[in-house]
Amino acid sequence: MAKVTKIGVLTSGGDAPGMNAAIRAVVRTAIYYKCEAYGIYGGYQGLINDDIHQMTTSHVSNIMQRGGTILKTARSAEFKTPEGRKKAYENLKKHGIDALVVIGGDGSFTGARIFSQEFDIPTVGVPGTIDNDMFGTDHTIGYDTAVNTAMEAIDKIKDTASAHNRLFFIEVMGRDAGFIALRTAIATGAEAVLVPEFDVETEDLVKKIARDYDPTKSSGIVIVAEGAKCGGAYGIAQKVKELHPEYEVRCSVLGYQQRGGRPTQADRVLASQLGVAAVDALLDDQKSIMIGMANREIVQIPFNKVVLKRKGLDEYRLKMIDILAL
Ligand code: ADP
Repeated sequence: MAKVTKIGVLTSGGDAPGMNAAIRAVVRTAIYYKCEAYGIYGGYQGLINDDIHQMTTSHVSNIMQRGGTILKTARSAEFKTPEGRKKAYENLKKHGIDALVVIGGDGSFTGARIFSQEFDIPTVGVPGTIDNDMFGTDHTIGYDTAVNTAMEAIDKIKDTASAHNRLFFIEVMGRDAGFIALRTAIATGAEAVLVPEFDVETEDLVKKIARDYDPTKSSGIVIVAEGAKCGGAYGIAQKVKELHPEYEVRCSVLGYQQRGGRPTQADRVLASQLGVAAVDALLDDQKSIMIGMANREIVQIPFNKVVLKRKGLDEYRLKMIDILAL
């Protein structure tokens, strides 16, 4: 394989805190190894629109502490078409870019996998999504920050819940995966958690809450992932209220604040490690892999696996909620 000399980097799909630290790591590692670094603005759409610019070390100064992504991100329908991907390839060729780092989630790696099957551009993925639902890595960039943000908001809601002896249903992000909900539930001492992966009958939930939400307890918190099958916080709250009109029920939906904000040190460090390793892998002639972190070691997982396999929720941790809510 020809030696890699010009490395492009883009962020794609949903933004996640820590993406900037990953961009910084990719750019600086590329330059450290005497390669040129190119920022592609607006994800795959930026490739198609030729929004591609060379980056120096100073372009990535002072960005580590900021949420979002300085390269912007986008969802590109055009990249899903062969014509769109051909345009993307031609623009990369025009700039002489011979390798690509894609920072994003599942969808972004599906695109990267197809692109690298069609064209000879070695591509390496860095997992950036708050949802943590990616096979092959213990954590994704942004997950730790999102959980901390949710936890801090819920701590505040708990003050009110306890002052008024109320039962709160709090919805957190997670359309398809319950990782944020489950970890936040453990971290906030919730009575119960509802996740998309497992269905819970309202009667069973009510029994659980009835057991836990007794007047001797100061407050009750149920964490609901937005994709929970019962229909989100408002849906389940209404069902519970119908069965127990005497409960003082309230709902709160935590929104996009979970996607933004200053990345935690854990996300900054993870992003830095994965970014360095992504460039290392490209210089080592690797392609079509995601860089992950498993058991505190850097791992390389083929896109095929990342895209086709699913990371399961730890059922033991779900049981922990029951145990600890006594
Ligand atoms: P995430 O990476 O956060 O999961 P998306 O699912 O929105 O976000 O995917 C991001 C982008 O990846 C899409 O807008 C599209 O450009 C590209 N992509 C996703 N799936 C495919 C696909 N099957 N073929 C080509 N590109 C895809």
